[in-house]
Amino acid sequence: MKIKKLKLLFIALSIATASFTSQAQVNNKINVVATFSVLGDMTKNIGGNRINLTTLVGPNGDAHVYQPTPADAQAVAEADLLIINGVGFEGWIERLIQASNYQKQVIVATNGVNLIDMKEEDHHDEEHGEHEDDKHEEHHDDEHDKHEEDSHAGHHHGDTDPHAWHSLANGKIYVKNIANGLMAVDPSSQNIYKNNLKYYTNQINALESRIRKHVASTPKDKRKVVTPHDAFGYLSSTYGIEFFAPVGFSTESEASAKDVATLIRQIKKNNISAVFIENVSDNRLINQIARETGANVGGVLYSDALAKNGQASTYLGMVKHNISTLSSTLK
Ligand SMILES: [Zn+2]
Repeated sequence: MKIKKLKLLFIALSIATASFTSQAQVNNKINVVATFSVLGDMTKNIGGNRINLTTLVGPNGDAHVYQPTPADAQAVAEADLLIINGVGFEGWIERLIQASNYQKQVIVATNGVNLIDMKEEDHHDEEHGEHEDDKHEEHHDDEHDKHEEDSHAGHHHGDTDPHAWHSLANGKIYVKNIANGLMAVDPSSQNIYKNNLKYYTNQINALESRIRKHVASTPKDKRKVVTPHDAFGYLSSTYGIEFFAPVGFSTESEASAKDVATLIRQIKKNNISAVFIENVSDNRLINQIARETGANVGGVLYSDALAKNGQASTYLGMVKHNISTLSSTLK
């Protein structure tokens, strides 16, 4: 009798434990780390309340020059999934992964994106060609080589543009990669991620067609602007807006006096009427260039991070803000 009771109790306990475990698994959120605010917002939209999200580089933060903290290493160590932009944008990520001894899945959001490489003849070099015609040919080659070495030193991670999120078409690839990562790590919630992906992709599509109409109303010859660093190549190729910048793909590099002089010549030659500041860059140089050329400062563009609040605090809001800021200034 006693034994029977004990046995029953044991069975009851095991059932309770079993149901407790499965309940816990259902409620257990997965830990996801996204490297910067744009990825963080996308991940939040796809993961919803199924995930505990940590974003390493927050609003207005510059991921190019970010220095991870011990708390970041802790978050990565506890993560079930790590989502990065890749293409050298987070130059510190390999070190952080090692320091955290993270061995689980890493999703590279740019996977499958058609990446933009630095043009062989980027606009600095074109200028060299035009303005140094009268100089000795050999000297020109020296300058050209020197310039390439200089700019290479500023781009430790290759000369491919990492800012692919500025094209909404790429944004759709990003969120698909993120959703695939979440589904692989948390298959029991697959349907939730699938539905969230579908809903979010529809929102991107709707915004995409609105933006095309918006940009189409801006005169083609006016679609030329200056920004502090070369962060809008994907927006440029999608909407036919030409961007000029004193420095390249990373804010790590600094503009030389020669780069600035070249840019000032380009602004005058192309009748560029507006320069823009960025939320992540040091804007003193841009303000100086505006003063020297008489160009207007057209407002803030969100390049490498979302805003803390307001419209640009989400990915879709950021794209909306950038396009409307550009078009209203260029009209
Ligand atoms: Zn950047």
